[in-house]
Amino acid sequence: MPATFKSLGLSPPLLKAIQTRGYETPTPIQTDVIPLVLQGKDVLGCAQTGTGKTAAFALPAIEQILADSSSRSHSLKVLVLSPTRELAIQINECFDAYSRHCNVRQTVIHGGVGANPQIQRIRKGMDVVVATPGRLLDLHSQGHLNLDSIQLLVIDEADMMLDMGFIQDVSKIVAFADNRRQTLLFSATLPSEIQSIAADWLNSPTTVNVVPDAIPIHLIKQSVFFVENINKDLLLIQYLFATPRARTLVFVRTKQDAERVARNINRAKLEALPLHGNKSQGRRRKAIEAFKSEEAPILVATDVAARGLDIDNISHVINYALPEYPEIYIHRVGRTGRAGCKGEAISLCASHERYYLENIEQLAGISIKVSQWNYDDFGNVLQLERAMNRRQGKQTKTAEPTKESPQKDSSGWVRDGRGKKTKKKKNKRKRQSKIITMDDINTGRVADKYAPQKKTLD
Ligand code: AMP
Repeated sequence: MPATFKSLGLSPPLLKAIQTRGYETPTPIQTDVIPLVLQGKDVLGCAQTGTGKTAAFALPAIEQILADSSSRSHSLKVLVLSPTRELAIQINECFDAYSRHCNVRQTVIHGGVGANPQIQRIRKGMDVVVATPGRLLDLHSQGHLNLDSIQLLVIDEADMMLDMGFIQDVSKIVAFADNRRQTLLFSATLPSEIQSIAADWLNSPTTVNVVPDAIPIHLIKQSVFFVENINKDLLLIQYLFATPRARTLVFVRTKQDAERVARNINRAKLEALPLHGNKSQGRRRKAIEAFKSEEAPILVATDVAARGLDIDNISHVINYALPEYPEIYIHRVGRTGRAGCKGEAISLCASHERYYLENIEQLAGISIKVSQWNYDDFGNVLQLERAMNRRQGKQTKTAEPTKESPQKDSSGWVRDGRGKKTKKKKNKRKRQSKIITMDDINTGRVADKYAPQKKTLD
């Protein structure tokens, strides 16, 4: 019999919150992890975002707080560490939603914003703190936080912590925490470094593995265009214009690329915002909110900034640059196929990136379709509009001959509205190039040439 949230051992206030959230059955990682956490076991979870892993640790964490007779004191019992601010905020929102019918308090602390409001909240007494490692250590060294009382420590996205150089900080936090604590460590990949960290920090852990088979990337339509770096902006912008899309997430390699590519897309009068680690917290939040509200339906992001973001209804993921590690490709592409929805992912692969492509195909066990982009096919405005309208089931207006409008006869002469013959005037306007060139993008001309009906495109 398939597991239910009730059969996993969760109590009524949590079941009510789960129901409000609209979850009907537990995901595989929840079925595996929730009972283990409730039994007090350490867990090494190999899972990426999108699998339901946040609820897999948050629900039993709250259950444990409820079962603890000292819970009314609101001392810190559960600490969750996250590599990025966005992910920390998101995890805290999940705790907030799951504990809405219980007397459990949680807060989030992260860098990039003033520490005082965070200190004030901690002083009130919090059962759960979700934090990025740097700010947590700052507040701890200033005596605002006591880590001795932690009963459950969750380290999320451990491989990303490693990539971002946070492992030293996490290691210090682990050393401050009580030895008798229970520890859960989640990582999208399990390289040898993570395995040895897990051996040090976890006590006889049970390993739960839900990657790569459970990632539904086979549901996602994937293709690759072979294009050199110099032509990537051009292809990207033409693609964005030519493709009916909902939210589109463009992954780039560097912060500078994020800025430049978003700027070029904006010059083509499509709404895009960059998201990367150099942005202030306020700007990052604004970019995510604009993306969620579809005010800026294109987000150009680095992996670090976008990792873990739970944003629904991403119709397209575009790998402007192929990632060095194949697991990251799976992470990125997995953003579009969430909750069983079909998405589409395209990759722009330069010759030096073909090696990465081979690795991706090998890890995912798939062969990604190679597509050709014919820049001339992009066509003019009318062709584009017709194609869009056809897709949307609308009729494209063709000019009906009217009394007033001239009508052409077989000789090439046209009759004006009064029936008088006149020679057809040659269209003196210089024929515009069909292709958007980078000059067009840079001078902003492209907007007038090719952005007639943005609403049909988004
Ligand atoms: P996560 O992997 O924790 O980032 O979760 C990915 C998405 O799945 C989030 O939008 C969750 O709200 C959603 N989710 C988590 N558990 C379930 C469930 N049992 N049923 C349906 N959706 C879920």
